[in-house]
Amino acid sequence: MAGTSPGTTQVVIVGAGITGLTLGHALVRRGVDVVVLEAGPRAGGVIQTIGQAGYTLEQGPFSVMVRSGAFGELLGELGLRSVDVDADASKKRFVIRDGVMRQVPTSPMGLLKTPLLSLGGRLRVLRGVVRSAPRTGDTDETMYQVASRRIGEEAAKYLAGAAAVGIFAAEADELSFDACIPRYSKADREERSIVGMLKSRQRDMDAAGEQKGTRAMVGFDGGLKTLIDTLSAALGDRLLCNAPVESIERVGEFYRVRHGRGEVEAGAVVTAIAPAGAGRLLGPLVPGIAPELGAVEMTGLGVVHLGFRRQDVGHSLDGFGFLLPKSERIEPLLGCIWASSIFTDAAPEGQVLVRAIIGGTRWPDAMRWSEAQLIERAHASLKPILGFRGEPVLAQACYWPGAVPVYRPGHAARVERVQKLLAGAPGVWCQGNWVGGLGVNDRVVAARALAGEIAAFVEHRPAPVGQEVA
Ligand SMILES: Cc1cc2nc3c(=O)[nH]c(=O)nc-3n(C[C@H](O)[C@H](O)[C@H](O)COP(=O)(O)OP(=O)(O)OC[C@H]3O[C@@H](n4cnc5c(N)ncnc54)[C@H](O)[C@@H]3O)c2cc1C
Repeated sequence: MAGTSPGTTQVVIVGAGITGLTLGHALVRRGVDVVVLEAGPRAGGVIQTIGQAGYTLEQGPFSVMVRSGAFGELLGELGLRSVDVDADASKKRFVIRDGVMRQVPTSPMGLLKTPLLSLGGRLRVLRGVVRSAPRTGDTDETMYQVASRRIGEEAAKYLAGAAAVGIFAAEADELSFDACIPRYSKADREERSIVGMLKSRQRDMDAAGEQKGTRAMVGFDGGLKTLIDTLSAALGDRLLCNAPVESIERVGEFYRVRHGRGEVEAGAVVTAIAPAGAGRLLGPLVPGIAPELGAVEMTGLGVVHLGFRRQDVGHSLDGFGFLLPKSERIEPLLGCIWASSIFTDAAPEGQVLVRAIIGGTRWPDAMRWSEAQLIERAHASLKPILGFRGEPVLAQACYWPGAVPVYRPGHAARVERVQKLLAGAPGVWCQGNWVGGLGVNDRVVAARALAGEIAAFVEHRPAPVGQEVA
C-alpha cells in the first residue's frame, strides 16, 4: 500500500465525526491509505453515549432514520447489527396544539379523525393529496410555503412545522424545501398532487436501483457509541485523536497538513468539520471559499435527560414523544422523546427516561445557559405536560452550540458555488452536515459516495514521499 511511511499518506481526513469516520473506512476498503485527524480526545463528534446509573444517555443523536441501502452496507462491512426502535412506540407521535398533546395521524382514516386539525384543515389535506398546485417559477420556497400550497396552511403549521423543528431544529418558514428534502424537489415542480409526488419519487428510486423497504428507525445495543467504536476500531492507528488540524498548505503536488501532534503530507485532503472551520483551513488553498463557508448559518442543539421512577410520572409515555410547532412556545423546548419507551433498555427496570430537545433557532439563548439552569427549566416545562410527581432520580444535560446547519433558502445555491470553487482545486474536498443532509444516515450516504470520487482521484496519483515530523 502506498504512503505507509510515517508522515505521508494518500488522503488526510480532518474531523472524526460520523462523516470523517465513514469516509475513512470506505476509503480503506477501497485500498486507499488514509489518516483521520480528530481535534478532540475521542472520535464521534456529536455522537456520544454515556452510561450513568443504569441509564443510556445519548448526548447527540438518539436514533438513525435509515433511508438507503448505504447504511445497511456499512453495518454489513463492520459486522454490526442495529436494533429496531419499538414499532408500536414509533407509530405514536404527538404534536402539541393549544397546549394539548394530539396524536399525529399515520393513515388516511386517522387523518379523517385527527383532533390535531379542524375539519376544514383535514379536508384541505385530503384535497391536496389528490390535487394540489405544483411550484411555478424558480423560487427557492420554504418548507412552510410548499406545505401550505400542497396541504393547506393549518397542516403546514402543525404537521410541517413540527416535522421541521424535529428534524432540522428550525422553523418550517426558515428552511428551504429544496435543500432539506431534495428528493422531492423535482416532483414539487412537476406533479399536481401529493400522490403524484410520491409516485414520482418511487420512479426515481426504481431508476436509481434503491431498494424498497430500506426505511427503518434504528439504534444499537450500547447506544450509537457502538457504531463509533466499531468504525474507530476498524480504522485502528489510522485514526489520530487530540490532533487538531491547524493549517493545510500546498507543497508542489501535495498538501502538508499541520496538526497538534505533528504534520503529514498527503495527495488529497478532505475536511469533515463545521463549515466555518473548514473555510479557515481551506481558504489559502481555494480562493473565495472561506466567506462562502463562513456564511453558512449554524444553530445549537442540546438534550436534557430526566430519569424517574415509573410511578412518579403521571403520563403513560406510550409512544415516541411530542414536538412543539412554532406557535407552542415552551422555553427552552423543541420537543421531548420518551427514550425508554423506544429503547426499553435506556432506563433501569421500573424507571423511565425522557429526553427534552432544547435550543435550535427558536431558543438560541439556551446555548448560553448553565447545565443546572437547563435541567431546571426543562423539568419545570415538562412537569405539567407529563405529570411528574416526584423529583427525578437522574438529571443530565448536554448541548452543542453551532452544531446544526440551518438550510435556509439560498443554501443549495451556496453549496453549488462551493462545489464549483472546489472543482478548481484538485485533491481538495469539503464534506459535513451542511451539505447533503444532517441526519446520520445522510452523513453515511454522502461519505460513501465521496469515497468513490476520492479513490478514483488518488488512483492516478502517486503518494507523497516525505519525512515525518512526529
Ligand atoms: C443534539 C443533537 C441531536 C441530534 N439528533 C439526531 C438524531 O436523532 N438522528 C440523526 O440522524 N441525526 C441527529 N443529529 C444530527 C447528526 O448527529 C449530525 O448532523 C452528525 O452526527 C454530524 O456529523 P459530522 O461528522 O458531519 O460532524 P460532527 O459530529 O460535528 O464531527 C466533526 C468532528 O470534527 C472535529 N474537528 C473540528 N475541527 C477540527 C480540526 N480543526 N481538526 C481536527 N478535527 C476537527 C470535531 O471535534 C468533531 O469530532 C443530532 C445532532 C445533535 C447536535
